[in-house]
Amino acid sequence: PPDVEQLGRSTWTFLHTMAAYYPEVPSYAQQRSMKTFLSAFSQFYPCNICAEHLREEMKSKPPKVESRWALGKWLCEMHNIVNETLGKDIFDCSKIDERWRDGPKD
Ligand code: FAD
Repeated sequence: PPDVEQLGRSTWTFLHTMAAYYPEVPSYAQQRSMKTFLSAFSQFYPCNICAEHLREEMKSKPPKVESRWALGKWLCEMHNIVNETLGKDIFDCSKIDERWRDGPKD
């Protein structure tokens, strides 16, 4: 079976980076595509327990896809739910661009 920790780090890197470069003002087609992508992702993510948790969370907190900011914040909150479950530190969601797009200010 896959290494759930390594898979998780790589996948969060991909997801947060994708959100950081999502359009500021996505078209309706782009918004639909992102919803479809996230729904498919939650079915096929190759850690069954993780995918199950994610699908459960997405029922009460459906993805926000109306802007880059909204998607980034939604994903940050999803990741924080997992962090909390695993006893990891909660990430400050005002820092997602610094972490995943711009790098630290010098
Ligand atoms: P990770 O949690 O992988 O984080 C990587 C980096 O992202 C951090 O170093 C930090 O810089 C940054 N970061 C942290 N929090 C945030 C945030 N909220 N927003 C933006 N950036 C952030 N593991 C399980 O054991 N059980 C599960 O149910 C489970 N569910 C998962 C569901 C999904 C969708 C994914 C992608 C992973 C899941 N994992 C799960 C794996 C788990 O989340 C971690 O990836 C893994 O434990 C490795 O943790 P880490 O400490 O290296 O940092």
